[in-house]
Amino acid sequence: MLIRAALLLIPLLALGPGCDPTIDDDDSTEDVADPPQLSLPVLDPTKVAPPVVGFDHDPEDHDGAYQVLCTDYDGRAFPHCYDGHDGSDFMLDGGFDAMDYEGSAMVIAAAPGTVIAVEDGHYDHCHGDLNTLDVDCDGHEMIGNSVIAEHESGYRLLYWHFMTDSILVAEGDELDTGTPLGLMGSSGRSSGPHLHFEVQDPDGEPVNPYAGPHSQDHSYWCDQGHPDDLPGSCPPSGA
Ligand SMILES: [Zn+2]
Repeated sequence: MLIRAALLLIPLLALGPGCDPTIDDDDSTEDVADPPQLSLPVLDPTKVAPPVVGFDHDPEDHDGAYQVLCTDYDGRAFPHCYDGHDGSDFMLDGGFDAMDYEGSAMVIAAAPGTVIAVEDGHYDHCHGDLNTLDVDCDGHEMIGNSVIAEHESGYRLLYWHFMTDSILVAEGDELDTGTPLGLMGSSGRSSGPHLHFEVQDPDGEPVNPYAGPHSQDHSYWCDQGHPDDLPGSCPPSGA
C-alpha cells in the first residue's frame, strides 16, 4: 500500500511552478543526507503537454464530479490538480496516438538513488471512462508498471504508468540523475499516457516537490520555474 498511483483525470492544460530555493541549512543533523534535488523526470520536455497535474493540498475528500475540487501548491484548482492527488502528472503530448505511432517520451531518473522495486508487464492502454469518472483497462488487471527508487536521504521517488515491458532498470540498480527508466504509458489507474511522479519522505508520506503558498517553502526541484512551465534540470554535478 502506501503507494497510491493516483487517478489521472482529463488531461490537458498547463500548470507550472513558482520559485526555487535551495534546500539546506535547516535542522538536518550531521550524518543525515539532504533530501533529493530534482530534475525534470522526462528526457524531452517538448513531449510533455501542460499543465502538470499536481498535488492536492485541500484536506477534504470529494466524490464523483467533485473530484475536480482541489488546491495546488499555488492555490489553483483542476486541471492543475485533482482531489486527493499525491503526485505530479506529466502528460504525453498527443496522447495515445503519440504513444502508439510517434514514440512515447522517455522517463528519466529525477535524482540519484537505488531501485528498490520494479513492476512491469501489465496492460498499458488503460483509459478514462467519462461516465463513471473511473479508469477502464479493457478487461485487464489495473496494475501500473512502475519504478521506485530510494535516495540516500531515505526519500523515495515513484515513477508510475510505464508502457508494457519498456522498463530499462532492475531492482538494485544504481541511478544517476537522468538515467533512462522506461517509456511513458497508461498502465494501471491512468486515463491516458502520462508519468505519475511522486516524492515520499523517509516516513513514507507523500510530499509536494513544489514550493508555494499551499505547500512547503522550499522546492525540491533544482529549477521549479514559472507556474506555467515545466521544472528544469539540475546542473551537472560538480558544476
Ligand atoms: Zn498522478
